[in-house]
Amino acid sequence: MLKYFFIVFFLALSYSNAQVTSNSWFDTVTLLRHVEALSSDAFEGRKTGTKGALKARNYIINQFYSLKVKPFGKTFEQPFTFKKGKKEYKGANILGYIKGTSNPHKFIVISAHYDHEGIINGEIYNGADDNASGLSALFSFAEYFRKYPPKHSVILAAFDAEEMGMKGSAYFVNSLSSYPKEVIVNLNIDMISRSDKNELYVVGSNLNKRFRNAVCCIKSNKVKLIAGHDGYDNKDSWVYSSDHANFHKNGIPFLYFGVEDHEDYHEPTDDFENIHPEFYAEAVNVIFSVFNKIDSH
Ligand SMILES: [Zn+2]
Repeated sequence: MLKYFFIVFFLALSYSNAQVTSNSWFDTVTLLRHVEALSSDAFEGRKTGTKGALKARNYIINQFYSLKVKPFGKTFEQPFTFKKGKKEYKGANILGYIKGTSNPHKFIVISAHYDHEGIINGEIYNGADDNASGLSALFSFAEYFRKYPPKHSVILAAFDAEEMGMKGSAYFVNSLSSYPKEVIVNLNIDMISRSDKNELYVVGSNLNKRFRNAVCCIKSNKVKLIAGHDGYDNKDSWVYSSDHANFHKNGIPFLYFGVEDHEDYHEPTDDFENIHPEFYAEAVNVIFSVFNKIDSH
């Protein structure tokens, strides 16, 4: 117990040395702690269908439970199978649900994939930025909703098998057609914890103009939120680069939050030590601001 206390104490100390600013919406030490845990070697790179992925699933379900998030279906898990080459894989999305206070029949899906590349040639690809960073942000939203319940209903979707062709989100979006539910927007979060230029991109506001105001004029000293990478500028398009693609293909508006690729992208060095805590915490803050603007209308 004493040992545990000292570990927590030193963790808190090292994070405060990183000068992570506090805010009233979520606890930044907790935000970082989840990234560190999920991108540790114990999770073996979280590849779909592996022991590490199962461990990640249980971790997510435990967090949802303790943050009083309800399952979206009968249970938190939405299992699915798919074939890649000759191999059949078993995946599972983890879906949490928070009922809206004034618009419960309209849904905002906040998503982040939890799978990553696993172990390749004996090296563990820990995927700290990609995408433990997005997943931990889902827990921050859950924490926030306990104090400030959303007006629209929210689905917190931790998708599986993004790295294998966005299979989990495809399955989820298809499953929606069997319910009379209206998803007004998907906010997809994938890689938000580091940027040498302090730039966070938001993709999709040029395709879905009703959300232009939501991403405009957000004040932050540390994070420059830039609308782009959606085919309306001279940058490469990220419209199909992550799970939001499956929402877009089915006519559901999306906003995707992410940083530009970096030297550790899809490398075994995408580790917790290489994220930028201050930028990351502020990026989550910025996404909260966008959410609140959408939810308040
Ligand atoms: Zn990713």
